[in-house]
Amino acid sequence: MEHQNNLIEKLTIEELTELKRIIKEGMVEKLIENKLEKFKNNNKICPVCNTQIEDNGLTLIFGPTDFRKKATFDAADCLEYFISKIRK
Ligand SMILES: [Zn+2]
Repeated sequence: MEHQNNLIEKLTIEELTELKRIIKEGMVEKLIENKLEKFKNNNKICPVCNTQIEDNGLTLIFGPTDFRKKATFDAADCLEYFISKIRK
């Protein structure tokens, strides 16, 4: 929790008042939810052709065991293209 305490310590009285207000109004939760939603959506874009991926995307998990990476593709040809690129 030390990091959070430092964050609070650095705020001015105006910022603290504003923060207190948005927490009271439940806006922090909404802001965090919106941000999380954006992260989720970012994962649903095919890295090969930038197409929005529906629920039927193909997910590939690759990389060394201590640094797993995940990529989701909209179609098998994009997955094949991606594999051919990382094989080199
Ligand atoms: Zn694609």
